[in-house]
Amino acid sequence: MEIKWVDTHCHLQLLNKNLDENHYKNIEFLIIPGVDVESSSKAKEISSSLEVESYWSAGLHPHDAKLLDTQKHDLERLFVEADLIGETGLDFYRNLSTKEEQRENFLFHLEFSKQLNKPIIIHCRDSFQDTYDLLVEFNNPSSVILHSWTGGRKWTKRFRELDVYFSISGIVTYETARDLQLSVQEIPINRLLLETDTPYLTPMPLKGEDNRPNFIEHTASKISSLLDIDEKKLSEITIRNSRELLKRQS
Ligand SMILES: [Zn+2]
Repeated sequence: MEIKWVDTHCHLQLLNKNLDENHYKNIEFLIIPGVDVESSSKAKEISSSLEVESYWSAGLHPHDAKLLDTQKHDLERLFVEADLIGETGLDFYRNLSTKEEQRENFLFHLEFSKQLNKPIIIHCRDSFQDTYDLLVEFNNPSSVILHSWTGGRKWTKRFRELDVYFSISGIVTYETARDLQLSVQEIPINRLLLETDTPYLTPMPLKGEDNRPNFIEHTASKISSLLDIDEKKLSEITIRNSRELLKRQS
């Protein structure tokens, strides 16, 4: 039997092609995150029609934080129905919205995650200190997922004190990701998750193609060798972790 994986971050609604069952053949279940009102509504729609078990989230990406005022009302409505909140967070690498706009947007999501007791999906790029400070300040008791984690050892050790989940994407398979590869060992094994970030971040050796849920096995295989545990075991652990984080909601 094929080993199964949970793809905790998979933007199926941003793909321009429909997938067939082969693209889900090794998937236990998946999570479809929204990045704005439209894509969150689409995530909901896809999730309800997909054959494979799936969950969806509503959120406004830090790149578009400047749209918060116009999207707020619809997002609040979607938050109530969604399984998770996000993706949100801070991206100080591209700074497509100002830092202040991103902060306000992030706090808005944190507020609802706490109030509705739903897990929150966080995008954290070149913003480790600020993300850390806001999480400490906000003291959110719901599950926190750091999606496509890229922190090195130092930040992994600091964030693990906050009992967050670290979701690892195809970046870990890139030769340039030495720091991330070293930091995987610092992640508590019960806080480790996997994702594709479809259609982005395609793992080696398929980099260059649009990413797909089934490509997650390349990322899994890399992590299994970094951690020196077999894939069957890694599959069991990450499936358990993924179910656990969803269960923590009320
Ligand atoms: Zn994303």
